[in-house]
Amino acid sequence: MGKICEYTCPSCNTIWSIHIGHGMEHAILENILDVFPTEIQKKIISDTKEEQFPYFEFNYYPAVCHECQNIVSVPVIHLYKSGHTYSSVCPDCGKPVDIQSENIGFLCPLCKESTLLSLETGTWD
Ligand SMILES: [Zn+2]
Ligand SMILES: [Zn+2]
Repeated sequence: MGKICEYTCPSCNTIWSIHIGHGMEHAILENILDVFPTEIQKKIISDTKEEQFPYFEFNYYPAVCHECQNIVSVPVIHLYKSGHTYSSVCPDCGKPVDIQSENIGFLCPLCKESTLLSLETGTWD
């Protein structure tokens, strides 16, 4: 089950609410492929083609897009056999994003004055 996290900036009072973690449907690799761009899908398929039941870890992480000055959630997959980790780009502008650990506070991408406060507000699956 995934978490819904709310990030609040105490300086400019902007609030972002994003989905992180993973849902029930993400237990199956075929369902996960759709959330990645085509070139990453190809890499995942070639990395796992020898495995009958690919061993992987998948989660949505909070990420900062410096281009959009926004906080987004991006999908990240780690494939144990190949040791590769693939992550997606900004869903809005398609540029690379800075993926954050959910437990470490990060700077507000809008005003850059304060570290964001995070609060778990719910769950999703
Ligand atoms: Zn701010
Ligand atoms: Zn962006």
